[in-house]
This record gives sequence, structure tokens and C-alpha cells, in this order.
Amino acid sequence: MDELSIHPPMNEIIKILLQLQTLEINGHAAPGQEKLAAELRAKVPPPVLAHYDRLVARGKKGVALIRNESSCSACHISVPRNVVLTLMHNADVQLCESCGRYLYLPEPTPTPTPTEPVAPKKTPKARKPKAELQTV
Ligand SMILES: [Zn+2]
Repeated sequence: MDELSIHPPMNEIIKILLQLQTLEINGHAAPGQEKLAAELRAKVPPPVLAHYDRLVARGKKGVALIRNESSCSACHISVPRNVVLTLMHNADVQLCESCGRYLYLPEPTPTPTPTEPVAPKKTPKARKPKAELQTV
């Protein structure tokens, strides 16, 4: 299993599979995307790629999102907590027990920064006539 160490981290591999999924239709790269698809494939460990290809060959998508950190978005079966935790730590790739797809967690959404009040622009407004200011 040492050969895995030369490959990108597991979460990267899933990202690559996701990219591949968008490039390929039924396992065939879209026209003009063959080179990119081949480059992506070269980065994926062969056993992972082989399983991915088997899924695709069966007309499935190879990768499925975990919804709410709890269920497979493809087959809606609940995903064991330890699987979710493994993915959170990028420790390993995980397969859905039900549909066999590679599971991935959505990118952590950055905590929304409170929208700061935009500083008023210094474009000079139409000045009020001086006469009016004096009356205030
Ligand atoms: Zn599933």
C-alpha cells in the first residue's frame, strides 16, 4: 500500500474523480477533454480508478455527496458516523454501503463574514446651497 503515498491526499482524489465525472460521459471523455481526463486519471490510484470505472460502467455516477453529514445523496441511505468522521479527517476514501459510490463531504462553507457597512464614498454630493445650511 506504500504506493498510495505518492498520490494526492484522499480528499484530492475524490475531487479529481468529481472533475473526471464532469468531463466524462459514460466513461468517455467529452470531445476536446481527452487530454485533461487522461491527466486526471493518472493522478488517481489504480484501485480507486478501477472501482470508479466499474460504477460508471453500470451507468452510475462514481461519486456521491453526503448530505447533512449523515446520508448519501445518491441513494439516501444514512451514512455511518465513523465514515463521515474518516472523511472529515481525510484519512481514507469511503464507499457508500448501499450504492457503492465514493462519498465526499461538501466543502466547508466559510463562516459568513458580517457585511460591514460600506464606507460612504467620497464622491461629493450636490452641495446644498449655503443659504439653506445657515437656516439649520
Ligand atoms: Zn449511496
